[in-house]
Amino acid sequence: MKKYQVDPQGFFGRYGGAYVPEILYKCVHDLQDAYLPIIESDEFRREYHQLLKDYVGRPSPLYFARRMSERYGCQLYLKREDLNHTGAHKINNTIGQILLAQKMGKTRIIAETGAGQHGVATATVCALMNMKCEIFMGATDVERQHTNVERMRMLGAEVHPVRTGNMTLSDACSEAIRDWCCHPQDTFYIVGSTMGPHPYPDIVARMQSVISEEIKWQLQEKIGRDYPDYLVACVGGGSNAAGTIYHYLDDDRVQIFLAEAGGHGIDTDHTAATMHCGREGIIHGARTLVMQTDNGQIQEAFTISAGLDYPGIGPMHAHLAETGRTQVLAINDDEAIRAGYELTRLEGIIPAIESAHAVAALEKVKHHFKPEDIVVLTISGRGDKDIETYLNYKLEI
Ligand SMILES: *Cc1c(COP(=O)(O)O)cnc(C)c1O
Repeated sequence: MKKYQVDPQGFFGRYGGAYVPEILYKCVHDLQDAYLPIIESDEFRREYHQLLKDYVGRPSPLYFARRMSERYGCQLYLKREDLNHTGAHKINNTIGQILLAQKMGKTRIIAETGAGQHGVATATVCALMNMKCEIFMGATDVERQHTNVERMRMLGAEVHPVRTGNMTLSDACSEAIRDWCCHPQDTFYIVGSTMGPHPYPDIVARMQSVISEEIKWQLQEKIGRDYPDYLVACVGGGSNAAGTIYHYLDDDRVQIFLAEAGGHGIDTDHTAATMHCGREGIIHGARTLVMQTDNGQIQEAFTISAGLDYPGIGPMHAHLAETGRTQVLAINDDEAIRAGYELTRLEGIIPAIESAHAVAALEKVKHHFKPEDIVVLTISGRGDKDIETYLNYKLEI
């Protein structure tokens, strides 16, 4: 169970590590020393699982999608992270990290957010735990995702619009790291995906691994065996995908398909398909694949999906794709929107546009499926936040 896990230096193959400014060195090092003893303690586990159950509403259902199964010629099960409190998988991680922050004696929480989902999930747990909360968000996203900004403010968080660069997620991350440099003593940075300097990718993957832990016993209960033939998930930074595949990484019976955001297409400048188009580089404290210009400047990501709009990728996913453990498909905007409508009409589930990318991958891989094959696809979030985007897009096609 160790082949694809992080090594003691914080690397997944040659990706990962902790490339941080000198001033954060102690802070990151303290976290590296502290996180495993804390999250493996009985006390942490008890509190974490209690909150997941009573506050988040876990376990999330594993739902047999009959009509979609017929459509794609397989036995399709949907892992319903969209039914979690606050509407996505992100809260699994923020619950875990705020407990970690508390146990490390931190009193102030900061976070970055793109679409606002991680900001809302962070503001939510800060209200729950009575912690001071400040969220960094690109000014462009503050406008695009206004309801989530209002939700964060209602929850008591301070939202700082970031006006550097393209004023989106990548700039919000940089600004959060800058703030952390100024307050290393009292502040805990809750990172929202399997990205950032070691140990964040490992922390976030462990917090989200509850998804595959549940898939195992839920499959056992439903079909009498605890593994599927195929797993499917979308990847932005990679957290819902990491959680979906975590307990199956060393199980060769399970094939893994991941969907990244192709935007207008991987042969255009308007894409967020980092694993197709990125080159090795360093972004937000980790060595990984980065979309960059010829002279090494970070290239703006483009996709209809605010939650996948990131020019990097978690280092574990760069490694998994390179070793061939995962197969990554680029899904374009139009394919995702079509798949979102299809799931809505066939199953009565409106997925987040991020999750619709995973649904769209079915069309591209269905030639692998036999009718008896078990496919588990994670619906990372609900589409309530995306209704306008769905409707506006439909008018254009
Ligand atoms: C944030 C988000 C994603 C992308 O983030 P990952 O870390 O790759 O999971 C996907 N789906 C939803 C619903 C999100 O909110």
